[in-house]
Amino acid sequence: MARQFFVGGNFKMNGNIKTIKDIVKNINAAKLDDSVEVVIAPPTLYLLLAREHLRPGLEVAAQNIFDKPNGAFTGEISVEQLKDSGITWTILGHSERRVILQEDDSFVASKTKAAIDGGISVILCCGESLEQREANKTIEVVTTQLKAVADKVKDWTKIVVAYEPIWAIGTGKVATTEQAQEVHAAIREWLKKEVSPEAAEATRILYGGSVTEKNSGELSKQPDIDGFLVGGASLKPAFVDIINCKGA
Ligand code: PEP
Repeated sequence: MARQFFVGGNFKMNGNIKTIKDIVKNINAAKLDDSVEVVIAPPTLYLLLAREHLRPGLEVAAQNIFDKPNGAFTGEISVEQLKDSGITWTILGHSERRVILQEDDSFVASKTKAAIDGGISVILCCGESLEQREANKTIEVVTTQLKAVADKVKDWTKIVVAYEPIWAIGTGKVATTEQAQEVHAAIREWLKKEVSPEAAEATRILYGGSVTEKNSGELSKQPDIDGFLVGGASLKPAFVDIINCKGA
């Protein structure tokens, strides 16, 4: 079974009402490869705006959720609130949250469980630092991050894994096709052993880290790269070229 190519745009803490409307307008007006699943993740404040303006068939993701249904959790948003607003995805475990906000593997796993149990799909990020790569710990780090999720979540049909080496995020230093493919293949092997052969076959594994319209075509040809999570370039008109890179 072929895996549907997936391109996500992570706007991070960027944009305002005008620029987000402009980005959405540009995506709406573009001729997109309709075999590609497209999801954009604006900052929380603009989720509804994006949902309201983005054309049907394209989805909107939060950049984070909390693992409780409601209550005294100042500053957080819940799965139910996302569903109520027509938001169908969330990014979880992004390295910026793991490093800056100090989210650990167990908290990311608990949020992933809350999302999946509540019916929200998850772009689950994992990835190593430069130091960990140089110490040959890449696969160990990534599979440890994923194992924390597998311990709590058995159904991976609504999870898309995003492999994002920290040293490649926002640095302009993209992983080589070989580096990315090697880790993606290892993740698939791990899924086969630790989740199920079916999950290994069906789970999309995205690459993220300085993806642009210039390098996406080559990366997309790798057998285990099923799409991209795009940061900086998702704010630019060239995001459309990344979505369409398979046909370029
Ligand atoms: C990201 O933060 O998810 C990301 C991949 O960023 P960038 O494309 O800017 O490296």
